[in-house]
Amino acid sequence: MRDYREFLKETLIDEDTLQERIAALGAEISREYQGKSLHLICILRGGVMFLTDLMRQISIPHTIDFMAISSYGAGSRRSSGQVRLTMDLKDDIGGRDVLLVEDIVDSGYTLSSILELLTLRKPASLKVCTLLDKAERREVDVPIDYCGFVIPNAFVFGYGLDLDEYYRDLPFIGIVNPERFQPPE
Ligand code: 5GP
Repeated sequence: MRDYREFLKETLIDEDTLQERIAALGAEISREYQGKSLHLICILRGGVMFLTDLMRQISIPHTIDFMAISSYGAGSRRSSGQVRLTMDLKDDIGGRDVLLVEDIVDSGYTLSSILELLTLRKPASLKVCTLLDKAERREVDVPIDYCGFVIPNAFVFGYGLDLDEYYRDLPFIGIVNPERFQPPE
């Protein structure tokens, strides 16, 4: 695979800025969930970097779990409004204070489907923490309780987000050069 620099138009959020904001989010979440049974749910694979950094900034006891989904029309980021569960949670969330940890909310269809699915399992509470919010692309209304950054309408990669499954390891968020990489429709 080629060097990521070939696809990078510019850095959108550098490592220090990311980590500073994640520390602030962790502190806010710790304050608001004090005395509760905080349970973080990470959506694989994009949310994994964010989860591992965020949980190290949360100072109250908490548990984690993972689920994986795929949008109908594999390889597509334009969801039909339905997602398919490809890996379910390990633990029951009934009666727990669940915080969903997402990498990015774009049209909102993915998040909306996940929230619908999790609500059926009767958590005590269900909130959303997303690192990135492409607010201007929203097609369906979704509640976002904690947001790292509102970003412009551009295809981004790094820090968990992929370009054809690569470059998730980059410690910063970059904007793709559209002349070098055609984002999936
Ligand atoms: P939705 O449109 O349903 O809100 O977002 C669907 C999914 O598309 C996200 O969870 C994410 O996996 C992917 N996605 C949306 N925008 C981007 C982007 O700029 N970069 C990458 N790598 N994935 C994105």
